[in-house]
Amino acid sequence: MTTINNSSTHKSSKFGIVGLLRRLLPFVLPYRWLLVVTLVLTFAGSLMAQVNAVVLDRAVDAINAMLHREDGFDWGDAAKLLAIVSAVLLGKELLAAVVTFGQRIFGEKIRINVSRDLSLKVVDRILQFRMAFFSADGNEPGKLQTRIDRGVMSLSNTVKNFFIDILPLFTSAVMALVLMFAANVYVGLVALAVIPVYFVITARQGVRMKGWRRRVFGTHQALNHGIMNILESITVIKSFNREQAEADKQAKLQNDSTAQQMQTRRISFLFEGLKTFVEQIGTVLIIILTAYLVLIDYPGMTIGKIMYHVLLFSNVSAPIRQLHRIYDDLNDALVYAEGFFGILDNEGDVETSGQHKTEQVHGDFELRNVEFTYPGGTHAIRDLTMQIPAGKTTALVGLSGAGKSTIVNLLDKFYSPDSGHIALDGVPLEEWDTEHLRDNIGLVLQKNHIFSGSIDENIRYGNPSATTEQVREAARQAYIYDQIMQLPDGFESNALQLSGGQQQRIAIARMFLKNPPIIFLDEPTASLDAIATEQIKASIDAIKQGRTVIVISHNIGQIIDSDYIYVLDTGHVAQHGTPKDVYRQGGLYKEIFDASARSMNADKIANTMA
Ligand code: ADP
Repeated sequence: MTTINNSSTHKSSKFGIVGLLRRLLPFVLPYRWLLVVTLVLTFAGSLMAQVNAVVLDRAVDAINAMLHREDGFDWGDAAKLLAIVSAVLLGKELLAAVVTFGQRIFGEKIRINVSRDLSLKVVDRILQFRMAFFSADGNEPGKLQTRIDRGVMSLSNTVKNFFIDILPLFTSAVMALVLMFAANVYVGLVALAVIPVYFVITARQGVRMKGWRRRVFGTHQALNHGIMNILESITVIKSFNREQAEADKQAKLQNDSTAQQMQTRRISFLFEGLKTFVEQIGTVLIIILTAYLVLIDYPGMTIGKIMYHVLLFSNVSAPIRQLHRIYDDLNDALVYAEGFFGILDNEGDVETSGQHKTEQVHGDFELRNVEFTYPGGTHAIRDLTMQIPAGKTTALVGLSGAGKSTIVNLLDKFYSPDSGHIALDGVPLEEWDTEHLRDNIGLVLQKNHIFSGSIDENIRYGNPSATTEQVREAARQAYIYDQIMQLPDGFESNALQLSGGQQQRIAIARMFLKNPPIIFLDEPTASLDAIATEQIKASIDAIKQGRTVIVISHNIGQIIDSDYIYVLDTGHVAQHGTPKDVYRQGGLYKEIFDASARSMNADKIANTMA
């Protein structure tokens, strides 16, 4: 799994700059026409950037000539010259404004579109992953989210840097340099000589910053993750009065982050100062050289050329001053691209599917010598063998952590076993078309996630094409219809406002709507009150008819209602049989059963009711 390692450096990045651009190319290519227009505008903008230097050169020389005219100074000629200069400069500025606007807006359009495409691609990919991906270390929701956000942001920034920032500046720099050389080779050489100095300084800056950016990123990720944890556990934090402890944890991370950010800023400001200084040295050298050439009357050198070269030199040095920022951004992109493309390239975690489909799924499950270990290393299932007959209700009983939910996870193909054999209706599970298999299985968990949205939308999740009447009927079957109708907005009310028990019944209604032949109930009544439990029990009894049901429950009432029981102990079958048989066998089941009866105070209940 790709995770960002704080201690690693740039060099360990899988991507070089060329590699990065190659990966980005397919995302930019759909916008190739936009790109062509942007590049043409870029070129036009670069040409215009040189106009000031040319105009000032000519103007200064013309004014100089006027001052030294033998027939005396003529105000009329001077006014004409100034009018032409103003018209050219203002006209150019107007045109440049239009060109720059077009170039930016098209460049930005490319960036925004690329950003959307990158996000869509990564979401598509994440939705394809098997559950093992999400249980793996480093793929916690907060961390994944940071990885994606940062990746999309820095990659689309690379596109912007390249097409909106670097390209115009560099084209303009190259043009300015060419003009300088054309006017005077020596001045051109001085301007050219300054460039390597900049590169050396930028490279030194890069070396000094090495590792810091990754550290900053790592801390940022941890911070996000920490805040997410606080939000998710706010009730627990408050009930244990652990606000201070949590605040302290955050404070430490924040302080680390502050120190790291300051350090990176300090280094970059230092180098920026150095570069500005070198740039000034360059300008001073150009002024001295051009003034000298004018003074010795070098052919072609006039006073106007001093201005000309100074202005052109500022066009040469402008992009180079930006070099470090672009270099930083590119390094960011190299770091984040690793995490981002790590997700896109992760073929290994994409859910696999077989081809097998059938008209009628019966629901005969067979597990033989199954071993399973979670990605984190928990060996949850050991040498498990069991038969789950079609059309019957099988209960999985065992202490917490015995592996009951894991079996459901395996049967739903959320995870694949390490070894052993699992089959449905005689066909190995891996040969089943995964989508088809899940279409035929209804899953009700202890805590079903209700999506933000209306009650209607939430029930409809079970069958998006259901009619309104079918949605209502499903709600009736799940004994939630009357309560929904009492809400001010009825079926349009926000489902997240419902109580835990009500949400559970929404989830059951969803399953009624889906109407699958196989049903897994993982402690479906664990969060319900007694009345709701009884109502749910009635509706579950109704839906059980003719279906294969696996029920995981701590509720003795539900367990003894099953046709067959498997008792699990640390990932393998400890006992099995009909409810009566298993009880007679004694052992773990009897222990659990008796403890359960005692905890319910069954004797006193019987006395009370007598
Ligand atoms: P039960 O349903 O019987 O309470 P589970 O099947 O949920 O037990 O868990 C069996 C074992 O697997 C436990 O030790 C549990 O900590 C571990 N486990 C469950 N889910 C995961 C997961 N997503 N990642 C890693 N370990 C897990």
